[in-house]
Amino acid sequence: MTPEEFKKNAHELVEWIARYMEDVENYPVKSQVKPGEIFKKIPDSAPSQPESFQQLFKDFEEIIMPGISHWQSPNFYAYFPANTSPPSVLAEMLTSALAAQCMIWETSPAAAELEEKVMNWLRDLIGLPSYFEGVIQDSASTATLAAILTARERTTGFRINDEGFADSPVIRIYCSEQTHSSVEKAVKIAGIGKKNLVKVAVRDDYSLDPVKLKEAIISDIQKGFKPCCAIASLGTTGTTSIDPLKAVGEICSEFKIWLHVDAALGGTALLLPEFQWMLDGKEYIDSFVFNPHKWMFTNFDCTAYFIRDAASLIRTFEILPEYLKTRTRGNVNDYRDWGIPLGRRFRALKLWFVIRSYGVSGLQEKIRQHVQIAKNLAETISGEPDFEILAPVTINTVCFRYNPGTDNEDTLNRLNERLNHELNDSGKIYISHTVLRKKYTLRMVTAQTNVTQEHADKAWDLIRSTARKLR
Ligand SMILES: *Cc1c(COP(=O)(O)O)cnc(C)c1O
Repeated sequence: MTPEEFKKNAHELVEWIARYMEDVENYPVKSQVKPGEIFKKIPDSAPSQPESFQQLFKDFEEIIMPGISHWQSPNFYAYFPANTSPPSVLAEMLTSALAAQCMIWETSPAAAELEEKVMNWLRDLIGLPSYFEGVIQDSASTATLAAILTARERTTGFRINDEGFADSPVIRIYCSEQTHSSVEKAVKIAGIGKKNLVKVAVRDDYSLDPVKLKEAIISDIQKGFKPCCAIASLGTTGTTSIDPLKAVGEICSEFKIWLHVDAALGGTALLLPEFQWMLDGKEYIDSFVFNPHKWMFTNFDCTAYFIRDAASLIRTFEILPEYLKTRTRGNVNDYRDWGIPLGRRFRALKLWFVIRSYGVSGLQEKIRQHVQIAKNLAETISGEPDFEILAPVTINTVCFRYNPGTDNEDTLNRLNERLNHELNDSGKIYISHTVLRKKYTLRMVTAQTNVTQEHADKAWDLIRSTARKLR
């Protein structure tokens, strides 16, 4: 592709993107293709001769687009938001054009220094104490793995990195039954063993029960196990329940256990003063993760990871081959030592673009709207005789089910499963489900960048009428 051709193609592409942003709500929000349908349409071998951009783009529109689920549609209420926004898209264009490898300060000083600065902004915006240092990771899963590895090393005097697990005590990790599966994955990868992840029971509101946590720790100590790390979630995946940070923190402090906070989705709510109560007990936190790539209008990937004692993180990950030695080492942040991969994209740029374009007040306004839509939706559902709310609505997620007065739980589960599929197959909205106390539960997350009350009202009309027709 010549520079002239690039320019022409890029202009067309930008036009296409702008149109897509305007039209996105008219696409079937959940892709309606069958397994294998796209695969079949793509040739079995790579082209030996160059192909034109026109041909390429035509195939993108005809083959690829039907297989896309539209996470940027305001009709998207499934799983969690994976939001983008125009400033984020623009920054990604620049990031991909620069294509800088930001592994160490020297390989792009601006990337390292902007990252340090925007992470300080973000730390202050969400109300974490100023001794926290931040680093951008690719996902909350990676950040949680980093936290558990660091906790493992700190607990064992940094021995396992050196000597392996021989003669190591059995390390125990604690979280609630509702904690995200990334914790279990991290425990497996960290060599601690799934068996040594203690899933503590939750209270009625699906938050971790600190009494049960303390009992589990005491019982483990009596058995000779070594308690290492507890995870508190601010916004669990199923219901966005909020674990009691202060109570968990006091226990961690008493038993000298690392406290990791998973606020992957819910962390964005901390931009609002009215959610600062979730951080009551923040003085106990050792590490904290939240995903601007979920609810903060910054496209994947962009995970904010904050750590109280960055030195222990660096000590856990540091390696120093000859070819990475620099004159500036020690005076600058070489983020390769702050996480797992060596290579790093310039992700701070999009965060900078997003925060500056919206301004803090603009971000707050949108987040507050999303919270209000969830509240309104919950109120509407509570007012329907044949629907019920199944979990407290704390942030932006509403858990409910259709219940036309049948006592048989199996029947209700099947009915709600059918309702879920029927709605998603319509292409008009996309919701998802979980199971709460054996009840098949429908979930709606009202946090897509462009969702409005009107969208949510229309979605609710569709859900209600579809449900009543199912009977
Ligand atoms: C989404 C989510 C995760 C996983 O996030 P990734 O960035 O996809 O790894 C972890 N914990 C919670 C609470 C989440 O909502």
